[in-house]
Amino acid sequence: MTMTNSMLINGIQVKGDGEVFSVINPATEDAICQCNMASVDQLDQAVAAARAAYPAWRDTPDAERSRLLHQIADRLEANADELARIIVQEQGKPLALAQMEVGAAAGWTRYNADLEIPEQVFEDSDSKRVIGHRKPLGVVASITPWNWPLMIAIWHIMPALRTGNTVICKPSGMTPLNTLRLVEIMNEVLPAGVINSVLGEAEIGSAISGHADINKVIFTGSTPTGQRILANSATTLKRLTLELGGNDAAIVLPDSDVDAIAEGLFNSAFINMGQTCAALKRLYVHESQYEAVCEKLATLAEQQVVGNGLDDTTTFGPVQNANQYRQVIELVDDARNQGARILCGGSPSADKGYFYPPTIVADVCNGTRLVDEEQFGPVLPVIAYQDVKQAIALANDCSAGLGGSVWGSDTEQAGQIARQLECGTAWINNHAEVLPHIPFGGCKLSGVGVEFGLEGLLEYTQLQVINAPK
Ligand code: NAD
Repeated sequence: MTMTNSMLINGIQVKGDGEVFSVINPATEDAICQCNMASVDQLDQAVAAARAAYPAWRDTPDAERSRLLHQIADRLEANADELARIIVQEQGKPLALAQMEVGAAAGWTRYNADLEIPEQVFEDSDSKRVIGHRKPLGVVASITPWNWPLMIAIWHIMPALRTGNTVICKPSGMTPLNTLRLVEIMNEVLPAGVINSVLGEAEIGSAISGHADINKVIFTGSTPTGQRILANSATTLKRLTLELGGNDAAIVLPDSDVDAIAEGLFNSAFINMGQTCAALKRLYVHESQYEAVCEKLATLAEQQVVGNGLDDTTTFGPVQNANQYRQVIELVDDARNQGARILCGGSPSADKGYFYPPTIVADVCNGTRLVDEEQFGPVLPVIAYQDVKQAIALANDCSAGLGGSVWGSDTEQAGQIARQLECGTAWINNHAEVLPHIPFGGCKLSGVGVEFGLEGLLEYTQLQVINAPK
């Protein structure tokens, strides 16, 4: 399969003028493509193109923008197989999961295409009518991570376009190829300059967050990078949405039916090999259920077939990159050295590729790095607790606040506990479910603002109040 390594600026494919870098297949450690980063000058060209395209796109009738987004969704579906295979080769996930990612990308596009922003009426009296309407912001920059690269790019780009903004997107250098292809496909439908792509890492990222002609940055990635973006955006007072790291806790209540919840717990923790922002990352289980839950999870882990995502039999792919792979190895080794019990997995594969089997770690507690830090990989620490109050305190003893969950047979009681969790979303008997119509975002160090639903869409707009006498 030939893969484009060109950026798209003002409707024209261009190679970066900057440093060369390789895109690595994590299943083989082979370079699958060479790309060039953009120079800052090329970023400026992309911003100028987006700025020039903005007035016409802003003034395009709403129904037409909606129609074009549906056309993009059609093309995503028509190119689904190619996009899914690119994702597997640069990201590593099994093909079926990559196909799901492309399907979700098309679904999110259609949802945004159909979303309308109602006019607000603040006062409608004998003397005046005061309404609020929403205007686009201008040029929006999207900066994405490497875990769900296509889906997250869609989450950023579609609401921006729907509301009349033009876009520059910068994918992660680990997984740029699917986004370059996405932008190429979108450009077949959109006027030149409405969507642009640039490649690069920290240098281009920081040129974006400091750019005087970019009005908003939507960023998904780690908390330290989000903090840099926030600091660097201050002088231009950019609008920001920051979706940052999570270290989600789940609490299994004493009345839980272990057989009924085990698979849900496992899938919530290991979705995308654990490389999901709102995956279940710390599991607190009442002591009465502890051994039963550990045993079930270990059995499910051992059933996984670890391998290259393109092989039909694979259910579990590699970790996406060497750094993250080392982080997982280090955190498990540290827990082992502190006396933790490794119930399954626990050491990297000897084969080529960043393969690490799904690993369940018991007899750990808060204060161990594996519990306190975001592992973002295929390992789950399971912590025993004695009473529910203690479990809530342990779950909240964390600087992150993305998601959380409570598992139990009495959903009323679980709901009461869920309200006490310090996180943006708390699920009951479920975890990590995100949907296009339900707002999603973090509190504490997990972010600023929300995505999805009307609330998410409004973040790409500026409120204007029209105050008119009658
Ligand atoms: P990262 O912060 O290393 O990189 C993310 C993006 O930021 C990349 O495109 C990178 O090139 C860019 N970047 C690097 N330095 C920059 C700078 N100085 N200024 C601007 N951009 C810069 O994150 P990652 O390792 O790619 O992703 C993993 C992290 O993302 C995890 O912490 C995970 O929890 C988080 N995440 C959060 C969500 C969410 O919705 N909250 C979703 C997915 C991933």
